[in-house]
Amino acid sequence: MSDSDLIVYRVTPARPAAHIFAVELSIPNPGDDAVTLSLPAWIPGSYMIRDFARNIVSIAAEDAAGPVPTRKLDKQTWRLTPGAGALSIRYEVYAWELTVRSAHLDRTHGFFNGTSLFLRVHGRDAEPCRVELLPPADPDCKEWRVATSLARDGAERWGFGTYRADDYDDLIDHPVEMGCFDVVAYRVGGVPHWMAVSGRHRADLARLAADLAPICAEHVALFGELPVDRYLFLTQVVGDGYGGLEHRFSSSLLCSRDDLPRPRGAAPAQAGDTHAESDYRRFLGLCSHEYFHLWNVKRIRPAAFVDGGLDREVHTRLLWAFEGITSYYDDLALVRSGRIDAKGYLEALAESLTKVLRNPGRFMQTVTESSFDAWTRFYKQDENAPNAIVSYYGKGAMTALALDLGIRRDTGGARSLDDVMRALWERHGRTGIGVPERGIEALAAEVTGLDLYGFFAQALETTEDLDLPALLATVGVEMRLRPARGPKDLGNVADAFEPIEPASDVGIRLATDGESRVAVVLDERPAQRAGIAAGDVIIAIDGLRVDGATASERLRVLPIGQSVRVHVFRRDELMAFDLTPAPAPADVCELRLDEAAPAEVLARRQAWLASLA
Ligand code: ZN
Repeated sequence: MSDSDLIVYRVTPARPAAHIFAVELSIPNPGDDAVTLSLPAWIPGSYMIRDFARNIVSIAAEDAAGPVPTRKLDKQTWRLTPGAGALSIRYEVYAWELTVRSAHLDRTHGFFNGTSLFLRVHGRDAEPCRVELLPPADPDCKEWRVATSLARDGAERWGFGTYRADDYDDLIDHPVEMGCFDVVAYRVGGVPHWMAVSGRHRADLARLAADLAPICAEHVALFGELPVDRYLFLTQVVGDGYGGLEHRFSSSLLCSRDDLPRPRGAAPAQAGDTHAESDYRRFLGLCSHEYFHLWNVKRIRPAAFVDGGLDREVHTRLLWAFEGITSYYDDLALVRSGRIDAKGYLEALAESLTKVLRNPGRFMQTVTESSFDAWTRFYKQDENAPNAIVSYYGKGAMTALALDLGIRRDTGGARSLDDVMRALWERHGRTGIGVPERGIEALAAEVTGLDLYGFFAQALETTEDLDLPALLATVGVEMRLRPARGPKDLGNVADAFEPIEPASDVGIRLATDGESRVAVVLDERPAQRAGIAAGDVIIAIDGLRVDGATASERLRVLPIGQSVRVHVFRRDELMAFDLTPAPAPADVCELRLDEAAPAEVLARRQAWLASLA
């Protein structure tokens, strides 16, 4: 195909103050048949129908003979019948959603995913195309540059100009940032990597790069090869935000300013102030997570995604593996690469286990059901979600941990989940052959030589708790459960386990916005029995006024078994309930490194946490 035959997308941040991108789609040879155009309903990696086409605020087409009428077929599809010569479709897209999944434009920057901007030309998905990124006319924006992993086709690095994509899938897999941003570069196995950071910040980017390089190297060592010639982290810094979305050659990250490492020369964190470091650890975990996806889900893909389109939901029972295994390895790479020590890793592990264990919904839904229903349940969580669903991230990571430790134990350390991942890469990643719904189970059995049927049947098809204490003991980690010491208690690592203090519980989670509003009423617990409901605003406990600052603590210290009167407003109606606190359930995870374990156990722990790079 000659260059002049290529479909071209021309993108202009046309009206930043109105948050409008202008796009011109040129089809040099539209043919004689009707041309059908559509925008995806969802973006890969985020399993919810988002109907991006609703942000197309105007569309018009013309060819050599003049205007061509566009006819809308459904919420996201247009059809036109060209008359003569090249067809040009001009449309405007409203972009005012600052997430990694959509598009955002103002005078400070522009960001978009191709799923928000690029209409698909039906029947021509497999053709290469060209992307021209034009600078904004606004003089306030004259310093703007471009960060994207799109292949350059004449554009300078970080410049506006011409880029290209191999096909439509490739076209929508490279988010684009325009604006003034900082860039830090590093290499992994000789391959250039960058992080572009936009938004207001003063972070120590040199430290960030020095930490990212060994984390990325761990993942490369695990899979045995790095299948990219470039990789870009696109990071947007805001006051309060968190999120990431994976792509084949890049990922988009949204983080809070305080998640990034403190600027060089700033006063060091005060002794005992581990908050800054734990926020940074979480951010490194996010980077590690999205980078792992470069293999696991972007190249090793469920067969359902290989065959499915983007116009409606695509169901798979495998998200427990694609998100859960990725979540397991994201923190594991931090300890394997020496960014955190074994105790730091166990702190992160205790927290992720607690987040699963404290929700009764884990007894209502299996991890494969959670995967299948991601679209309408995990992605559309309401006040009842903690009672009704389990996270395929959290329970999936727990399943990956149990699988890894079980394989290590039962093969005498000869095999691990690492071997299963490498086999998945060779069988499905390198070849592009989709993973069948039971494919991971079969491959894990094949690679390890173990009969894993019973394990997978329990972990994937039931809601029974996995025997984590026994599995962790095989790597010299003691685990026990105890009652929560407060609403923010997500577990800990202890040098020695203290005697367990009984605690009282009412089964309420309050809103995190500082109001004394009930966000969640946990199933079969005292508040539900008393009649308190999500949305109620608590105004008095035991006849004394409370507010957002005091309600939580007052609820926490109520004595077990003694009824107290609680006054709430439900809508505008004052209601009173008699609440009788019960003993708190043991649903918080406490871990301890057992340094007195037998030598073979300590050696197994060593192998589990050791660098592969
Ligand atoms: Zn993920």
